[in-house]
Amino acid sequence: MLLWSFIDEGFVENLTPGLANDIRFYGTDEVFKYKDHLTRVFGDNRSVMGASQHNRRLYLGVNDQKGNLLFVLSIKSRERTYDRSLFDSSLITGLFISGSVFILFYLYINQQVLKPLRKLYTLVNSAISNNDFSARDEYYGDNELQQLGRGMNELFTLIENQREEIFLRHEKLNHISNTDSMTELANRRALDKHFAKLASDAVSAKQPISLIVADIDHFKLYNDFYGHDQGDKALCEVANLLKDNTNPDNHFVARYGGEEFVIVLSNTDKQEALKVAETLRNAVESAHITHQGREDLSYVTLSIGVASKATNEAFDSDSLFKIADNALYKAKKQGRNCCVAGDKAQL
Ligand code: GH3
Ligand code: MG
Ligand code: MG
Repeated sequence: MLLWSFIDEGFVENLTPGLANDIRFYGTDEVFKYKDHLTRVFGDNRSVMGASQHNRRLYLGVNDQKGNLLFVLSIKSRERTYDRSLFDSSLITGLFISGSVFILFYLYINQQVLKPLRKLYTLVNSAISNNDFSARDEYYGDNELQQLGRGMNELFTLIENQREEIFLRHEKLNHISNTDSMTELANRRALDKHFAKLASDAVSAKQPISLIVADIDHFKLYNDFYGHDQGDKALCEVANLLKDNTNPDNHFVARYGGEEFVIVLSNTDKQEALKVAETLRNAVESAHITHQGREDLSYVTLSIGVASKATNEAFDSDSLFKIADNALYKAKKQGRNCCVAGDKAQL
């Protein structure tokens, strides 16, 4: 509006040169007066005069066929194409004020709206691309943008809490699906996963690995004598003894099923594995878990079969299992409560 107020009829006329000029005509009787001031003579190719203006007018001559000056036209020249008033102080001041107002308005909008919006956008964008919602910004004011910022902080907190909850639930589900609920040892599913991991692990391929299969002796008689519930308790006691006498760093203890347990020993050769097996057998025997149901002894014992793969030999859980199972069978045959190491050749 400020700019518009400077645009009036005079302004438009000044921008339209020539329209208001008067043109004068001088006939044969007058042409001699302007002969020396002619700028251009039509009908005479030689006559490019280039004469300067006379009386602030421009003179144009027209010759007849004989080359005599026929008439002269004069046009009043304008001082300048654009009127000086176009750039008068009020216009300059108006332009300066409106420019300053515009810049101040932009700075205000930038400070109050654009900057906080950019900050918020950067925060959200980096949270999404890094999948990390822990970042927070501080918002103190009461305007809508500050409220939006605080809302965003709360939203991030909510996302973080829900993620944490999902993570914990996932961990719990994972634990349940991989754990034997009675003994709290790894279950068959977890054992299969452990085997798969060892089979695909380049480091394990280079190391010796051993497998222990341990079975409680005459456990059917235990159940028959004490009842199934007491049998469950005895199973848990044995499971705890196995856990307490192994090293969680490289011994993976699982309940394979019933009264049978499996221990996978990473980076352990046959001799070492036999020592561990003997420790476990001894631990259960020494615990003296009373077993009045059997005739040979009065406490719970373990029979153990051991199988090993040598360094740089491929890991094959099935064949190790068969070797260990055969060894266990031998241990049972040898009178139980003992450890036997199996051999590939006996397969
Ligand atoms: P052996 O010395 O030859 O291994 O004799 P055993 O009696 O231990 O072996 P058998 O395979 O004949 O019997 C295993 C018994 O283990 C039978 C079953 O009732 C018992 N059992 C298996 N799982 C459980 C369980 O979860 N709880 C209880 N209480 N008993 C179980
Ligand atoms: Mg048994
Ligand atoms: Mg058995």
